[in-house]
Amino acid sequence: MIADLPKSVEIREVGPRDGLQNETTIPVAERIALIDALSATGLTAIEAASFVHPKAIPPMAGSAEVMKGITRVPGVRYRALVPNERGALDALECDADELEVVMSISETHNRKNINMTPDESVQQIIELTALAHREGTPVEAILSTAFGCAYEGDISPLKVARYARRVFDEGGVDGLSFGDTSGMATPRVVIELLDALEEAGIDVSRIGLHFHNTRNTGLANILVAMQRGVSRFDAAIGGLGGCPYSPGATGNVATEDVVHMVEDLGATTGIELESLIRCGQLAEELVGRQLPAQVLRSGPRTRTVDA
Ligand code: ZN
Repeated sequence: MIADLPKSVEIREVGPRDGLQNETTIPVAERIALIDALSATGLTAIEAASFVHPKAIPPMAGSAEVMKGITRVPGVRYRALVPNERGALDALECDADELEVVMSISETHNRKNINMTPDESVQQIIELTALAHREGTPVEAILSTAFGCAYEGDISPLKVARYARRVFDEGGVDGLSFGDTSGMATPRVVIELLDALEEAGIDVSRIGLHFHNTRNTGLANILVAMQRGVSRFDAAIGGLGGCPYSPGATGNVATEDVVHMVEDLGATTGIELESLIRCGQLAEELVGRQLPAQVLRSGPRTRTVDA
């Protein structure tokens, strides 16, 4: 038996935003259908939209229509990514339950992605958090490239921990999440980051982790993080999120695979795996190709076939 694992784990679905933003544009009605199907699985948090400028990320155009068109299920938080004040106001207008603001620890990635220095991003997080809090809406800061950067290589865990402290202390954010933007996390790198966060006085049982399966270590990363007390992970239905135009750029860890492993370890997720698998099939229909989730093909290990 693997000792000291969290008794319950929150798996947050990011497919409708993080996943679909890398696809060719999926019609608003189909994005709504996917979110509604996911809402019926027992998931408690769904990243539903991104209020970026539609010219910057065309697949996320129509996010307001998506937020207004979904059928809200009580107990599910519908979250939205916001890049600036305009996006935050739009998301609040659509009654997003939680806002997400991203900054990269890597200076190069932050400049390329949002054209700001990390210090400017901290300032922006302070301002957007104050804005959201005036409406009573919580904010999560997502620190991306926390496990490495495709431009800069290794990222110092101490640097990540310093920014984590700052967005907590100065920004007043309600939640912190760490993104493996370029799929460079391995179990060793995860442990080194968790060590640094704990040394900085951050309670790792309250953070979230966001892994991509670029080098096939996604589930191993989650297992070692659970052993250290982390109990919140992002995942995308079907493993959505790979860019079809850049070979090797695989997507997020697949929700089906994560739920299957976590439940098998004895931690509850509240998510019904078979209905999740049907969502994975729907996601494949929407994008028109086979997605990488393994449990989507094989079913759970307890599924038997006729002899
Ligand atoms: Zn992602």
